[in-house]
Amino acid sequence: MPVKRPEKTTMPTREAGERAHTFAEVNEGYSVAHASFEAERCLRCQDPVCVSACPVQIPIPDFIHAVAAGDMAGAARILRSANPLPAICGRVCPQELQCEGSCSMGGRWKPVAIGHLERFVADWERSQPITTRPAITRSERIAVIGAGPSGLVCAGELARHGYGVTVYEALHAPGGVLRYGIPEFRLPKAVLDWEIAMLESAGVEFQCNIIIGRTITLDDLIAKHGFAAVFIGTGAGLPQFLGIPGENLNGVYSANEFLTRINLMRAYDPEADTPVHVGRRVAVIGSGNTAMDAVRTSLRMGAEEAMIVYRRSEKEMSARVEEYQHAKEEGIDFHWLTSPLEILDDGDGWVSGLRCQRMELGAPDASGRARPVPIPGSEFVLAVDNVILAIGTTPNPLLTRTTSGLAVTEHGCLLADERTGLTSKPLVFAGGDAVTGAATVILAAGAGKRAARAIVEALATRTLVTRLPS
Ligand SMILES: Cc1cc2nc3c(=O)[nH]c(=O)nc-3n(C[C@H](O)[C@H](O)[C@H](O)COP(=O)(O)OP(=O)(O)OC[C@H]3O[C@@H](n4cnc5c(N)ncnc54)[C@H](O)[C@@H]3O)c2cc1C
Repeated sequence: MPVKRPEKTTMPTREAGERAHTFAEVNEGYSVAHASFEAERCLRCQDPVCVSACPVQIPIPDFIHAVAAGDMAGAARILRSANPLPAICGRVCPQELQCEGSCSMGGRWKPVAIGHLERFVADWERSQPITTRPAITRSERIAVIGAGPSGLVCAGELARHGYGVTVYEALHAPGGVLRYGIPEFRLPKAVLDWEIAMLESAGVEFQCNIIIGRTITLDDLIAKHGFAAVFIGTGAGLPQFLGIPGENLNGVYSANEFLTRINLMRAYDPEADTPVHVGRRVAVIGSGNTAMDAVRTSLRMGAEEAMIVYRRSEKEMSARVEEYQHAKEEGIDFHWLTSPLEILDDGDGWVSGLRCQRMELGAPDASGRARPVPIPGSEFVLAVDNVILAIGTTPNPLLTRTTSGLAVTEHGCLLADERTGLTSKPLVFAGGDAVTGAATVILAAGAGKRAARAIVEALATRTLVTRLPS
């Protein structure tokens, strides 16, 4: 029987003062006792809305009941049957908008901590030996372009169906944003490495340092390398800029560059070839997960003051609630309703400040959110040494420019069928941020899974499951 308790079981976390200066993971994970205690809160609803609110439809009550019964192996099996990246999603999904956001407990009380439980089960599984073995039974081989969550999940699903899969990755290590974007204090690389080892044990082959569209073309993958189908999961890695004066000064970074240098290129090591200059005061423009990661990373890299500058209010912020709370606890300053106008030069080509203007909220704009409106005469200067732009990303056009017949939207995203991921080219499928624009890990994972199923069906029936609307 469920035990009615209004509060969630608290996730043990490293103390804020200590963690602001270390890249060690902030959340320390549930113990078995925490997990069982929290699992007892699940109401076992007849019609579990949490499942339909999950983009990959994890049978949430089933895995939670297995935890409550002490059957961790069973819980892991249930979880993995629907989500091939549970240790990652348990850490980074915006649960408050998805599963937990629709939990029946949430009306009066705090929702069940589904994300923390997912992480607990996945970490338990990670403490066990990997027993998966390759089971390649099909003659056709599939190519996956990009080793981010969409590509990883698509590859894993195809391998489960007996297909040989080669994942081509432009960078020197697989993982996509999970490796080069999300910092160690939120998603340890060891967790990602384990998930990749699982895929390798299932027979997925990774070829890194290969840029499709440069090293090999997509058309050649089919015509010369003999792949029967291709999945494109190349993400949206091209940073956007504001177009304000001063963006080319020393000390200005895109969040992608800043985080990639630190995550992949050892920029924290002064001896590395790719250092980052982090001054005393750092301003990060934006309010999403990327902005939150960049500002908290600045603090860990030695900034004395790290701040978020965002032109709307706290209510319109798009970061995960947990990351925002952690950022506040760590001492990040928030300048809401503040829009940057110019990055100021110290006279030697380095950043010395950020000229801003105060805003107020007006009527909703096309995004449905209140439009920020400038307040005349409200300009002021924030003294800063670095400005990091985290205002969004778009897909890199390289692949589409070098591939014949691959249709894109007006925003440069790949045009693909929502249900199957089929693009405008036969047997070429796509999903994740390359199709949707910058979104979330679980949406990318869901798209990879759907495309894998469509590829299996297309190859089995020798028909294209669906065609793009013209
Ligand atoms: C800093 C940051 C923090 C984030 N935090 C969260 C979070 O907390 N929760 C959440 O749900 N989402 C978060 N996101 C968003 C999430 O990470 C992305 O939505 C997700 O990674 C998209 O997955 P993907 O597979 O489509 O692409 P990506 O993860 O971008 O992977 C694409 C891969 O393709 C490779 N590639 C690109 N072009 C080529 C080519 N031509 N040839 C070969 N390889 C190529 C790239 O190198 C990359 O490895 C965050 C994003 C960032 C940047």
